[in-house]
Formats: sequence, C-alpha cells, structure tokens
Amino acid sequence: LVKIEHLYKEFDENTKVLSDINLTINKNEVIAILGPSGTGKSTLLRCLNYLTVPTKGKITIGDIAVDAENHSKKDVIELRKHSSMVFQGYNLFKNKTALENVMEALTVVQKKSKADAEKIALELLDKVGMSERKDFYPSKLSGGQQQRVGIARALAVNPNVVLFDEPTSALDPELVGEVLNTIKSLAEEGTTMILVTHEIGFAREVATRILFMDGGKIAADGTPEEIIDHPENPRLQQFLNFVN
Ligand code: ATP
Ligand code: MG
Repeated sequence: LVKIEHLYKEFDENTKVLSDINLTINKNEVIAILGPSGTGKSTLLRCLNYLTVPTKGKITIGDIAVDAENHSKKDVIELRKHSSMVFQGYNLFKNKTALENVMEALTVVQKKSKADAEKIALELLDKVGMSERKDFYPSKLSGGQQQRVGIARALAVNPNVVLFDEPTSALDPELVGEVLNTIKSLAEEGTTMILVTHEIGFAREVATRILFMDGGKIAADGTPEEIIDHPENPRLQQFLNFVN
C-alpha cells in the first residue's frame, strides 16, 4: 500500500537527515516508529505527503507514485489525497465547531454536499467519542477532545493511510489515555497507520510492526516482540534502557 524507495532528505550539506530509506507497508499494518530525538522520524512522515520534499527517492501510496527528481504539482496533490496526518498540536479551525471542522474536509476537499458531509462527520465524531460535543468550539474542548476531533477530521478524507506524529506528546498526562484509546480502536478496525510515538508501551500493545530509526536510517524493523522484548541492535537496546 505504501512503498518508500531509496528515500533521501538533505536540508543542506551538513544536515543529511534521511539516507536510503526503503520500506513497504501493507494494508492494515499498524506501524510504530521509535527512535531518538532528531533522528528524522518527523521528516520521514512529512516526506510521505510532501509536506517536506525529499531530495531523492520514490514514494508510492496506493495507485500514485511520486519521484522526488521527476514529478509534477499534480502528482503531489494526488499523493496528498492518499494520506492524512494528525499532528502533535491539534490544529483545528478555531472559528468552527467540532462538527464543522470535520465537515470542512468533506465539503472542501471531497466536494460532498452539506447533507452528506454532515452525516459522515457525525459518524466520525461518534467513532472518536465526540458526538455529544459536536457543537462545541475548540476553545471549549480539552486538549484530548480537540485531538480526537483532529483524528475524526483526518479520517474524513478516507485516506489509505493515517500518519500520526506524536499525537499525545502535547497533552496533559491524564488526557493521553483517551487519545491512545481512540487510536487503538482505529487500529482494531484495520485502519492502516504509521505512528511516531514515544509511548513504548502503547507501541508494544497496538502496533503490528515497529521500526527503530537511528541516524537517518531504519536500524531495526520487526514485530513488537522482536523489537521491544528481544532487541538485538545495540543502539536499540540502549534506547529502550534509556526510556524505560
Ligand atoms: P523528535 O523526536 O525530536 O521529534 P525527529 O526524529 O522527528 O525528532 P526530525 O524533526 O525529523 O527529527 O528532524 C531531523 C533532523 O532534521 C534534525 O536534526 C533537524 O534539526 C533537521 N531538520 C528538520 N526540519 C528541518 C528544516 N526545515 N530545516 C533544516 N533542518 C531541519
Ligand atoms: Mg519529530
């Protein structure tokens, strides 16, 4: 479903962030990406939808392939329709209610009628446990609730893959659980997702596969048991000792 081939990203001569990343992700996989700060996890996610333009390499999602060295604007627009990203901070529109925030993705991006958009948006808000607060503005919602609306909005475009970049790291500790539970239920429904997280326990529980990134490369790739319980890579062992 997602294929990354020989992906490189250099911001400049001295900032070579990703080097020769190769990765194939199948439908229904839940991938967690772990790794030390500054190792290129966010950059990798952002390259998948060209929020960051790679220096070299090819990204394929579903039926669209985009080559960094030879692509059109139209390719990038197409590629972006195939994934959606949930960020660390919940960047909802402040002047729109929860319902309107989710509808926006449907009416503007997918050109659905208002009635259809509302129906789908209500289903999605229900899925993330936010239907009771559908008419609240973001300022009247907790961080966790805003993040759940953000997840509903990301799902609205019916993406092939949902990308999460540390979706809970901006939240107060007591709000982390509700967002992780929402992500967990999506995982159980078979939503394909790639999740950058520092929550090792959560990755262990929810991911079908874990990648450990180090120094701009994928240094380990395996099942949660292989990566967390029986790490072989010395850098990974060190990382796990450090965070536990
Ligand atoms: P963290 O766990 O702290 O979020 P990360 O693994 O997500 O880290 P990235 O944000 O991908 O790391 O950054 C990787 C490297 O790329 C860092 O050294 C960072 O300084 C550099 N970098 C990221 N974005 C830019 C940019 N726009 N311009 C220049 N350098 C950048
Ligand atoms: Mg990051």
